[in-house]
Amino acid sequence: MGQVVSLRRRTPAQRGAKRARAKPVRVIRERNCSVGRTVAILSDTWAFLVLRETYFAATRFETFQSALGIPRATLTQRLRDLTAEGLLRRVQYSQRPKRFEYRLTRMGIELYPVMMALLAFGDKWLQKTARPPIYLVHNQCGEVCRPTVACSHCKEEVSVKTVTYRDGPGAGITPVIDAKRNRRPSDTSVLDRGRPSSVSQTLKVIGDRWSFMVIREAFFGVRRFDDLQTKLGIAPNILTDRLDRLVAEGIFVRRKYQDLPERYEYPLTDKGKDLYGPLIAMLRWGDDWLARGKPPLLLRHNDCGHDFNPTVVCDHCRQPLKAKEMSYRLNYRPRSDSRPRKPGRPLIVEDT
Ligand SMILES: [Zn+2]
Ligand SMILES: [Zn+2]
Repeated sequence: MGQVVSLRRRTPAQRGAKRARAKPVRVIRERNCSVGRTVAILSDTWAFLVLRETYFAATRFETFQSALGIPRATLTQRLRDLTAEGLLRRVQYSQRPKRFEYRLTRMGIELYPVMMALLAFGDKWLQKTARPPIYLVHNQCGEVCRPTVACSHCKEEVSVKTVTYRDGPGAGITPVIDAKRNRRPSDTSVLDRGRPSSVSQTLKVIGDRWSFMVIREAFFGVRRFDDLQTKLGIAPNILTDRLDRLVAEGIFVRRKYQDLPERYEYPLTDKGKDLYGPLIAMLRWGDDWLARGKPPLLLRHNDCGHDFNPTVVCDHCRQPLKAKEMSYRLNYRPRSDSRPRKPGRPLIVEDT
């Protein structure tokens, strides 16, 4: 009996050693990437949903809460985070009682085209019905529009086949503390809260941080299991899990390239290649707002021969899409508070 007890009892040093084993602090060297920084913000499911409601003109705590059914403490924290990250601004709107609302900053407003690019992907590839949840109307030309990621120079649609890249002034590798990076994955079922959304559907595919990193490496031409593992410093079981999921989602196909020993590679499908638009839209936003003026990558559009900024344009009139110039036709019945305040009218967003 006594022996069992003494076996179970550990010295403080042993307890310390156990803690150290349980939480290894690994430092991984990661490719500098504005897309990664953007996904780090968007991959928090609740933060994303709060942000999305702001594009439907929500500004007040109660509006967010009833639109999303989000726990109050969670909402408080996310509003605080989004304000600290610079996407929202806290503005007092009532003196007595003292009340605040949250408005989009310029940084938040400029994330709108990224959302539109994610939406276009979701509408094309992930909706099970013929009608998307929302028709976007571009008020400038009056047409129902499909957001298109285009070259800022010639305004033509760009794709992975027509763009080459080279290192920019912010290129390089940054050490990242592994423990920080591996936040618990967000609960993606939450993404269905509030309203049907093609953006949510797309984030379910790429929003998970590891899935996203695997897809990003694919666009850098890395497609073999072993190479992915080395590049990302990812545990083989996690990599297998993410690749299986992305194959099931139709983003990659699995192809054997060697028999003894058996080795596999994962080329992108056409659907996977279509993620290029949303990815470079994120890249642009991340360069503008998170890379401090030093973009890690420069992009060239081979069709017109110019360096360009990815720009999300209307497929009819080729003008860049701006939140205040859009209106929506909803193909679903919204929860009462998530209805745009003036249906069919442009959204009112902060313009400072
Ligand atoms: Zn061009
Ligand atoms: Zn248009």
